[in-house]
Amino acid sequence: MQKNLIWFRNDLRLYDHTALNEACKSDEDQVIALFIATPEQWSNHFMSSKKISFLYYHLISLKKELLKLNIILHYYESTNFLKSIEYLMYFCSQHKINNLFYHYEYENNERNRDCLVKKQLSQQGVVVKGFHDKLLVSGQYIKNKKNQTYKVFSFFKKKIIENLQYNIPLCFPIPSKRKLNKNSCSHFFSSEKINLNFNKKIFPIGEIAAINRLKIFCKYKANDYLLKRNFPFLDSTSMLSPYLSLGIISSRHCLIKFLKEQKNISLNILYSSSWLNQILWREFYYHLLIAFPKISRYQSLSLWEKNIDWSTNIKYLNAWKEGNTGFPIVDAGMRQLNKLGWMHNRLRMITASFLVKNLLINWREGEKYFMSHLIDGDLALNNGGWQWCASVGSDSVPYIRIFNPCNQSKKIDKLGMFIKKFIPELRHVPNQYIHQPQEWSHRNHYKIDYPAPIINYNDSRKKALLIFNKARLSF
Ligand code: FAD
Repeated sequence: MQKNLIWFRNDLRLYDHTALNEACKSDEDQVIALFIATPEQWSNHFMSSKKISFLYYHLISLKKELLKLNIILHYYESTNFLKSIEYLMYFCSQHKINNLFYHYEYENNERNRDCLVKKQLSQQGVVVKGFHDKLLVSGQYIKNKKNQTYKVFSFFKKKIIENLQYNIPLCFPIPSKRKLNKNSCSHFFSSEKINLNFNKKIFPIGEIAAINRLKIFCKYKANDYLLKRNFPFLDSTSMLSPYLSLGIISSRHCLIKFLKEQKNISLNILYSSSWLNQILWREFYYHLLIAFPKISRYQSLSLWEKNIDWSTNIKYLNAWKEGNTGFPIVDAGMRQLNKLGWMHNRLRMITASFLVKNLLINWREGEKYFMSHLIDGDLALNNGGWQWCASVGSDSVPYIRIFNPCNQSKKIDKLGMFIKKFIPELRHVPNQYIHQPQEWSHRNHYKIDYPAPIINYNDSRKKALLIFNKARLSF
């Protein structure tokens, strides 16, 4: 009999969990599980309080689900990664662990931590077994013919689909129940520790809730996704991002469920589905993170960016954060973020473009603010999104493309339903003026409790083009 330890990290699920399956392969082996929290480090890395609360609720749920398999989940709190390694070594020796199972993580500190873990535990006689599980295809072999990382999404997508065509992955089932473990006591946190600060109705707790959400999306919403995905008032996207970011559901599971739900499965769907396209953008940003560790240190992928003279206007930055810029669609997006910890993708693009190209504020300020408020905050995707919007990443939007908030607003929220939901001060404004309510208030001498635009859009656009152009030419 061997004693196996599963070290859970951002993979808080039972279904389709490679490490759990590997650890449970032999019925004879005893299996226990561990989660090590590092709250101090989380706040240093701008993890939002909503995401932390969401995580704790999922740990409670995971503990219950594991118990049904007779696997005990232990919990430990540590100040930082180095201390967590010390604790892991102590835990393994106390519990006489033979094998440690976990999934690789790709952020810089996590990669360094995992190298140390492997080295130190191997010296202690523990066999360390790490698995690539977070992505559809592991970061090791998505390279071009010159053995370089793909920097253009469409080429990356083509290559990844080629890989998937010959090798559609399978999901691992939940392992069967283990023999009863006699030493069943475990150290866990008290539920007093956590406060519920996210909306449980919008983001229900548990792996089963996530699986149901995926099922409903694939059955009823996926086919209309292309048509409806850009309208923030419609409930048309999957809202699976908080679950994917904590690994409560796997991207493999998303792919397979989606394919199964399509009546005529043809591999063309891998190319044409706009929803799978988004899952592949997730994959792309993770591949960039693996290839360019400097991303974890807030560095951009374009060297010319150093020449941009960013504005340090705190008033503008605060107005943006609070949703008080006087541009309704920008403000509604930011208020959605502040209230729910989640923002519709189109609005993430509009608000990010506004900060970087109209207020000319460094995208890193926006990246940090998003990270510290998002329930789905994910370094690879957040950084990827910000570098894309700021035109400084790999395969980003060209710098000359600057979203016009007013035109965007007319396109994606024509009747202002979304704006009125998040900016109640504007609910009396007639629909045709909702995108520029100040004009209506001026004409009718009607006072609204809403700010005037903090900048002139056309002037700011011209200035941004000059600054970005100069930065590129002078490099
Ligand atoms: P759906 O439209 O249902 O898509 C399914 C999944 O595909 C998403 O859950 C996500 O995992 C992935 N996905 C969707 N859109 C993108 C995209 N543009 N880039 C990469 N992957 C995508 N997503 C995060 O999960 N965490 C973040 O911290 C994050 N920060 C972002 C910051 C900016 C500036 C931008 C422009 C985008 C960011 N995104 C981030 C990507 C995207 O906005 C969200 O994933 C999406 O809005 C989540 O909603 P959904 O689950 O309903 O997505």
